[in-house]
Order: sequence, then structure tokens, then C-alpha cells
Amino acid sequence: MKRHILAGCSLAFALASPAWAQETQTEKEAARDVLAKMAALETAIDVPALVRAMTAPDAARDGVAARARALMDAELLALSDDLCTHPEIGYKEARSVETLAAVLRAHQFDVKIGAAGFDTAFVARYRQNNGAPNLGVIVEYDALRGTTGAFHGDQHCAQGPVGIAAAIAVAEYLTKNKLPGSVTVFGTPAEELLEPSAKTVMHEAHVFDGMDVIVRSHASTQTSRPAPGFGTCCLNIDGVKYTFSGAPAHQMTAWNGRNALTAVIHLFDNIDAVRSNMRPEARIQGIITEGGAAPNVVPDRTQADFYIRYPDEVYLRQVREWA
Ligand SMILES: [Zn+2]
Repeated sequence: MKRHILAGCSLAFALASPAWAQETQTEKEAARDVLAKMAALETAIDVPALVRAMTAPDAARDGVAARARALMDAELLALSDDLCTHPEIGYKEARSVETLAAVLRAHQFDVKIGAAGFDTAFVARYRQNNGAPNLGVIVEYDALRGTTGAFHGDQHCAQGPVGIAAAIAVAEYLTKNKLPGSVTVFGTPAEELLEPSAKTVMHEAHVFDGMDVIVRSHASTQTSRPAPGFGTCCLNIDGVKYTFSGAPAHQMTAWNGRNALTAVIHLFDNIDAVRSNMRPEARIQGIITEGGAAPNVVPDRTQADFYIRYPDEVYLRQVREWA
């Protein structure tokens, strides 16, 4: 069996209650280094003071938020519906990108489609950008892969419109008040595919250079308001590909072969068997991408793709070792 880890994404800080994933002393001990790093960062940038400043009454901020909401109501909710009903999977989001780019151009952004070698990445800079500080807004727009076609099941069709509403509202505010600052919207393709990781490639190609802060929104199915401070907002993901090798034989003389399909079926059964020993936040799901070529041939090669998710990378590593 060959096990190949495709990628590990570790987007794991945002406004949420700190480190809820570690409840027992053993877990806290295992995650000690990660928690210490988060605590140091939280102290270094004085999160409580930031929260106090950002949540105090502020008419200007409320005005920007009201403008973003007005943009959503006037045109961007309709844009979201349009993207939802025209789903495109990762790296094929040409129509979605053209649609988002047209809206950005209409709101005074220069849009360059294509970045870091990806045809469906884009960079949109506000025409009246005025130096630092530089705000970057990341938007995603790819749909999920279904057996009968693409579909939007992870709210990515809303993500562009929400990000664009925020970008326009902040950019207009800076211009109207003659304040220094710049707003750039980054279109990042294929969030639902692990390899290649588009944002990593774009980062390594210096697409995000110059940004002081980069934000991204992602809708979820529940309304919540987490406590301020660093915590775990997102599940870390390991994409793992399992390949089994056997030996082919005709079905009538199957004893001359070695059945790789049996192995992949055991993999699924064994993972199910250890699920009850895992913490409930773990998500392990896989598909068989290769199951053999013909029913009269003993399959000599099978393959399964799994996504293994857990909030913190320490426990995720343990889960992956069990799987
Ligand atoms: Zn998503």
C-alpha cells in the first residue's frame, strides 16, 4: 500500500474561543507548542485592546457596513444567485470570473484575469488606490464536483459578492475621505481541490506581496458570534491518496492473482471500525477512484482518495496515523 499525503492546509486562526479542541491534559500537552505560539501572538498584538477599539461605537465603520449591505441588497445578492445557478468546478471557473470581474470593473476596479499561471485567478485593484495600508480581500468561486455535474454546496457562490461588497465599501470610504490606503481583491480558484493548492502557488509567485492585511469571508450554515481571541475556526485538512497493488488474473483462475479491490474495501471497513475511538470533530470521508478494469479480471490496482479533517493539526496527525 502506498500512502501519499497531497497537502496539508492549516488555516487555523480566527475569532473563536481559544483552543476548544484540547480538553484533556494529554491533548493540551500534545498541543503545547501550538498553544504557546498562539498565546504569544495574541499577547504581541494585544488582542483585547484591538477588540475594544474595533467594537466601540464608530459611525464611520457603521457607515461602511451600511454601504456594504446596500450593495448586497441592490445588486450583489442577485450576483450570488447567478453564480449559484451557474456552478463551475476548480480551474474551470471562467464564467464566474468574468461575471465577478465585470462587477468589479463597474465599481472602479482594474481587473487582471490570470495570475501565477492560473487562468481563473484574478487580481483587481481599486483605481484610486492611495498607498499603504494595503487591504487584500480573497474571494473563492469554485463549485463542488458531483457525479451529475458541478453544484454549489459550500456557499462559494456567495463568497465573491460578500468580499466585493466589503472591498467596494472600504475603497469608497477611503476615497471619499481622502485617506491613505488601498484595496485589492484576489480571485483564488479551486478551493475545493487540494492539489495544486492555488493560494500556496499564488503566494509563492508573490501575487499577495505588499498586502498588510488579507481577509476572506466564508459563509456557514449557522449564525454564530464567537468570543474574541485566537482559536480554531477551520478544520485542517489532509488529502490522502491510498494506492493498492495486486496481481491480475482471469476471474476463472482468480487464485493466480492478488485482489487489490479487497484491500481497498478493507481500508474503508477498518476506518469505519476506528471511528468510534476518535473525537467527534474528526471528519474522514473517501471515495474509490480506481476499483479495477473489468469484472472478469482480478483488480491489480486500486486507489482511494480521502479527506481527513480535524480542527487542530496535533490531533489531526494522530487521526491520520490511525487511518
Ligand atoms: Zn469553502
